[in-house]
Amino acid sequence: MKKLLFFIFFILIVNNTSLGAYGNLQPPLIVIDPGHGGIDPGTIHSNLLEKEINLKASLYLKQFLEKSGALVILTRDNDTDLAKLYPGPGARHFKDVFNRKKYIENLNPDLFISIHVNAGEFKKKNFGQVFYGRNPKSLAPAEFIQNKLNEIYKVSKAPQIADFLILTASTPGVLVEIGFIDDQRLCDNDFLKNLCQQLASSILNSLNNKGPTSRVKFEPKLLIIIDDFGNNSDNWHEFLKLDLPFTAAVMPFLNNTQKEAKILAQAGKDIIIHLPMEPKKYKRSWLGPKPVMVNLSEKEITTLLTEALKENTRAIGMNNHTGSKACENKKVVQTILSFCQKNNLIFIDSQTTPNSLFPLLGSEYGVVVLKRDIFLEINGKDEKKILQQIFQLQKIAKEKGLGIAIGHVGFEGGIPTVKALKAALPPLQAQGAKFCTLRDIVKKHP
Ligand SMILES: [Zn+2]
Ligand SMILES: [Zn+2]
Repeated sequence: MKKLLFFIFFILIVNNTSLGAYGNLQPPLIVIDPGHGGIDPGTIHSNLLEKEINLKASLYLKQFLEKSGALVILTRDNDTDLAKLYPGPGARHFKDVFNRKKYIENLNPDLFISIHVNAGEFKKKNFGQVFYGRNPKSLAPAEFIQNKLNEIYKVSKAPQIADFLILTASTPGVLVEIGFIDDQRLCDNDFLKNLCQQLASSILNSLNNKGPTSRVKFEPKLLIIIDDFGNNSDNWHEFLKLDLPFTAAVMPFLNNTQKEAKILAQAGKDIIIHLPMEPKKYKRSWLGPKPVMVNLSEKEITTLLTEALKENTRAIGMNNHTGSKACENKKVVQTILSFCQKNNLIFIDSQTTPNSLFPLLGSEYGVVVLKRDIFLEINGKDEKKILQQIFQLQKIAKEKGLGIAIGHVGFEGGIPTVKALKAALPPLQAQGAKFCTLRDIVKKHP
């Protein structure tokens, strides 16, 4: 009996020690997802492979989190990918990330952290960047981790919301770009270890609600984008009369592109480039003079994008006009993302195909990619049906924290869209709906 009591006592002590700071409290369950693996190296710089740094950092992070009593599970602990974890359709890369998301959702952790390293040549000033999904519980960890990375790299960056595939998981989570692949310090074990130790403490602090940023409010926001400006549609002025902070997507290379962009910007609208991209089925007249076609070379696409931005320097981002074919093309998507990275542009995926590669590849370039949730005129140009869609957007915003809708100037929308928006604004605002600009949602880098 004495022996048994001692044994129980011993177990209690051991358990208490292993619980670390948590004592009798439930320790948090944290999933760490080392990005890439197996045949997918991630981004590469000379002989440095992102997948290897991700795994090493994840193992350090696990060690420090466990020391503090957290329960930690890795999505991979060796050089492999998860494409075959669950059966299902899709290309290997898509399935790899989709399965990580599913795996995380099945574990239902308090937080998941996807570890990545940014591509690109950022020799001048390195930094870490945190992205968070639309789950309101992701915001506090994102703020905490970003603040810590800012201390380490001596910069002041804001964490960014993004609809990267992994971040669409239903559980709270962040994707952390711990640095740039061409930063030699990431090969230094002491530097990496120290970075992970600091990240671990910021993660635990965020979960324990320690510090001012844990009280950051996550308000449901509505973002309305109006497509197809630049075409001199006879109803485009009507949108300017709306007391609504919409984002104007202006098509490039048209006679009225510069004029409309200028007037819309003067009216305080955020401007993005409405980039025509090759669809699967189309009439050539839909695409304007210079669309992004899949048979263009990377250089030709970059030249085209450079010209479009030169013509419309106010643009803070892009979204695609059509593009069901080009958005599924890896070369095209990577070229556009690389351009967005270099020019600090946001990309909004109009979702003209559910298989668009932007949400999958955006994290590789550290580019904010957001996804359109609904089209306003999906059920036709009937004012009442458009009104229904606007109320649907409010519902999405309440559920997900952010709702993104695309409406149209010109033939596809126009006056019925303006009328529906005018009718919907007072009741929605009375219900507390917050219509936002793109700048409200995506904090521009200082
Ligand atoms: Zn990566
Ligand atoms: Zn369009």
